[in-house]
Amino acid sequence: MPRPIQACIDLAAIAHNYGVAKTRAALSRNPAKVWAVVKADAYGHGLLRAARALGDVADGFALLDVEAAVALRDAGLRQPILLLEGFFDRRDLAACAEYGLTPAVHRLEQLRMIREAALPARLPIYLKLNTGMNRLGFRREEISAVRRELAENTAPFLSSITLMMHFATADGERGVEWQLERFRQMTTGWDLPVSIANSAALLRYPGTVNGWARPGIVLYGASPFADEDKNAASFGLRPAMTLTSRILTVQEIAPGEQVGYGGIFKASRPTRVGVVACGYADGYPRHAPNGTPILVAGTRTATIGRVSMDMLTCDLTDIPQAGVGSEVVLWGEGLAADEVAAAAGTISYELFCALARRVPVVEIGDSSDA
Ligand SMILES: *Cc1c(COP(=O)(O)O)cnc(C)c1O
Repeated sequence: MPRPIQACIDLAAIAHNYGVAKTRAALSRNPAKVWAVVKADAYGHGLLRAARALGDVADGFALLDVEAAVALRDAGLRQPILLLEGFFDRRDLAACAEYGLTPAVHRLEQLRMIREAALPARLPIYLKLNTGMNRLGFRREEISAVRRELAENTAPFLSSITLMMHFATADGERGVEWQLERFRQMTTGWDLPVSIANSAALLRYPGTVNGWARPGIVLYGASPFADEDKNAASFGLRPAMTLTSRILTVQEIAPGEQVGYGGIFKASRPTRVGVVACGYADGYPRHAPNGTPILVAGTRTATIGRVSMDMLTCDLTDIPQAGVGSEVVLWGEGLAADEVAAAAGTISYELFCALARRVPVVEIGDSSDA
């Protein structure tokens, strides 16, 4: 018998969530196209699973590695593929031409590399502008040099240029306007297509962010917002990953007894402790404190005690019908990953990406099975 832990990935939910993103994008000015962001192995859901879910519907796929892009081409996908961090060396550039990839360009040196590469095809590129995130992209002082380089040298090697920026606070109080204003200033008189919105901007400011949107987290049915009133369900999103396991055994402990490493939980009443086959080596956050929500036999309860490598413990005192073998939902259907993440001081993105290789995955909702 394998351990009872398993992650269920719902391909129909991913397709549904992409549809939600498309509906939002349709509120913006043309073209309301949507990249499916599938970096980090589709946020832990499996790149090729996401490709199966979205192969017939997505306008394009955005990710990081040439290798992952080639895997999508090998799987038969013909849509545009965007390399969000661009190309790293000459070999990547050759692969961009061979496989029809669209690299982001964020340094002047990369434009020179394109012109010197003598590629067999013209490249579509995304020019990344730094409007305040201060990770990748051209700063305002560099723009005139970029435009000169393009006009004088690189343009004949390009098939299209899209202007791209990324928001730092689309989910927060500061919003998007301060960065949009910088973007407008940097792109004055530059009449090119744009790609601006991440999930948060797409949900919160539909209609103000034009061009090709780039949602990631919403495709997997989670919310980019910390606020409970902007939870995933309120946007009509469906969880794509449900992590389940079972109760291995039950301990009945007396008041004053403690549970697990460090004894961080001490019983104040007679307590039934459910021991769950799931630990941090499966990707469950070790820093989840006492009180992190968990679903046992369909009823919500709380974790108690420290999460260990292969097990965690929860309070079954008020769920008398739960016992050895009862089903446990760690997150997903019935318990939003966002809630578990918030309790553990992190975000659903990190929970999904941390799902361990050792956890068996089952797939549901594949329409091509029908
Ligand atoms: C990861 C990423 C996204 C998607 O962000 P979400 O918050 O998951 O929607 C969009 N654009 C870029 C450049 C990214 O790196």
